[in-house]
Amino acid sequence: MFPLAMVEDVRRDGPTIYVRGEGVRLTEASGRCILDMMSSHTRANSLGYGNREIAQAVYDQMIAVHYVGTVDNFAPATVQLACKLAELAPGRLSRSMFVSGGSEAVEAAIKLAKQYHIHRGTKPRAYKIISRWNAYHGSTMGAVGVTDWHDMRHISEPGVPGVSFVPGPMCFHNPLGMEEDEYADYCARYLELQIQHEGPDMVAAVLVEPIMQGGGVHVPPRRYLERVREICDSYDVLLIIDEVITGFGRTGAWFAIEHFGVEPDIMTMAKALTAGYVPMGAVITRPQIADSLPIFRHVHTFSGHASAAAAANANIAICERDGLIEQARRNGAYLQDALKAALEGIAIVGQVRGLGLWQAVDFTDGKTGGAPAPVEVPVEIVRRVRELGVLVMPQGTAIELAPPLIATRTDLDEAVEAIARAVTEVARDRGIRVGRTV
Ligand code: PLP
Repeated sequence: MFPLAMVEDVRRDGPTIYVRGEGVRLTEASGRCILDMMSSHTRANSLGYGNREIAQAVYDQMIAVHYVGTVDNFAPATVQLACKLAELAPGRLSRSMFVSGGSEAVEAAIKLAKQYHIHRGTKPRAYKIISRWNAYHGSTMGAVGVTDWHDMRHISEPGVPGVSFVPGPMCFHNPLGMEEDEYADYCARYLELQIQHEGPDMVAAVLVEPIMQGGGVHVPPRRYLERVREICDSYDVLLIIDEVITGFGRTGAWFAIEHFGVEPDIMTMAKALTAGYVPMGAVITRPQIADSLPIFRHVHTFSGHASAAAAANANIAICERDGLIEQARRNGAYLQDALKAALEGIAIVGQVRGLGLWQAVDFTDGKTGGAPAPVEVPVEIVRRVRELGVLVMPQGTAIELAPPLIATRTDLDEAVEAIARAVTEVARDRGIRVGRTV
């Protein structure tokens, strides 16, 4: 079985088999080389392929002691990682628990929020979670229940009770036709009304991706997240920030929430925690929340796996030594400028947006008024970019780029050139203007 692939497509085209990876390039079984601008499709592979330092660290750990169980049994590598995360995570976040991926991290975060309210006693009936339209938080039953990707959620329902959704700041082409900042304010106001509507004593947490992935890298105005924080505080509702896709440098900061100066109560992470070399996720919280629980009733066999922790420690050490977080910030700005310059004047290009090495180009129909592009447009652009030897992905009406943090400016230039060529061709085929108007 092929998760999320149309069986018909796989039957027709076959799966893609990659036989080798080096740096930012993958080699297909046919021998064809691809420039990977998606960090292994899932945005997890932040250090590219063939990193011998991580491989060596995992090997050494496996030989020393590969895994020692769970609960309160750890190898030093796992303890070291917990200490490091306490240093890197914003504000008072310093108590972590490890899991095996992003969905498990979200499950743990939700359960932690509920168990906190039960044990603290002031809101013992708080079990509801408020998530947002178009959010993606994972595929296990709890995580898909707080996900608003309808094709994924509806088929799994009925899900976990107590989840509701509010609009999130996907401001470009927002459904009310508002100015972007005005729409973000509206979304924050709606969240407050939803907490009041659900009953503040019943609401355990609000769950938020700091930058929404759905529809392609929607960066909210700073004041939106500040306001969400204030609202959560006023109603004694925990703020869970889901950094599974944004954590560990993707946006040019260790965690995307740092750009907004907001301290979460609970934060999730996975994917680039180990640069994708070994599966691992984590949830981190404040001591006050962790200490309120006499026992956290939640466990996975591979919580705190020593070899995964070794991969994470090596990844973090490399990012620090090589200044990769700062490099992602600088190269991200370079990439955005290059995309804007290369795509200027092509009428189907609606918006280039993003933060750090996470960028999107959103398309319109190219006509006056610029209605959202049909979804076939980004799909066709991605297909042509791939023919030119570069991997990017479609996201609704947009295309997304999430290059490994080690990508050089030459790699980014190569990607921009392929994208500009593909976008120009697709616009021309649709009879849309591709040059500057004077
Ligand atoms: N949360 C976010 C924000 C994600 O982007 C994802 C995956 O893309 C998940 C959770 C689920 O992570 P995983 O696929 O590791 O279970």
